[in-house]
Amino acid sequence: MTGLVVAIDGPSGTGKSTISRRLAGELGLAYLDTGAMYRVATWWCLHLGLDLTDHEAVAAAVRTIPMEIGTDPARPTFAVDGHDVAREIRSTRISTAVSAVATNLGVRPELQQRQREAIAAELQPGSFSGGRGVIAEGRDITTVVAPDAPVRILLLADEEARLQRRARELHGTADAGALAATRDQVVRRDADDSTVANFTTAADGVVTVDTSTLTLDEAVATVRAVITAADENPRTQEQQ
Ligand code: C5P
Repeated sequence: MTGLVVAIDGPSGTGKSTISRRLAGELGLAYLDTGAMYRVATWWCLHLGLDLTDHEAVAAAVRTIPMEIGTDPARPTFAVDGHDVAREIRSTRISTAVSAVATNLGVRPELQQRQREAIAAELQPGSFSGGRGVIAEGRDITTVVAPDAPVRILLLADEEARLQRRARELHGTADAGALAATRDQVVRRDADDSTVANFTTAADGVVTVDTSTLTLDEAVATVRAVITAADENPRTQEQQ
């Protein structure tokens, strides 16, 4: 595999990050977690004490954010101005606030541009992947950030499956209390996010994989097969 870009979109709880990270590791590709970039931007704005409803101040802050994203799938790193924020960006505080930043139309072009640059960098010999390529995942990667990627996949799963997965991840159980506590992070967040990006229906040429009834291993195998088929037969992929 040389110079491959794999774009993966989908809502919360479809297994996007876990699947992308695992396959990037297996295939010797870099891993770009674009959701983490929105999380880092949110952390930065809150750190600066900004009111997230002040769209102009937030957009201006994001334009100058000294963000460093590491693309090693075995150890993705997220820092701002040298400060490691990997743990903080996964907090409920950030998960609750991130859509306010991600739906800011002054913010998106800035982060989308940085994502395109990060993807292009992985096609160069001096990058983490050594030019082998990257799996980039998010909400708008197949449609806006990398619409020309040779492999584009939309991961879907029904709401119940997504809620259960996230509840287990965050609370270690999927009982009624855990499901209720997780609802904001899945249902409300996706509803807010879908006002600025379409990640529920596949654009032309995008392969849909529904993970609702698949185990993680089965989902990984299905996505691996899509990537391998496209990489071995790029003309077929273009014709789809
Ligand atoms: O995938 P993750 O849950 O970490 O994404 C965090 C948030 O970042 C999403 O809820 C969404 O608001 C935003 N996002 C986005 N576009 C992307 C990736 C994430 O708007 N490409």
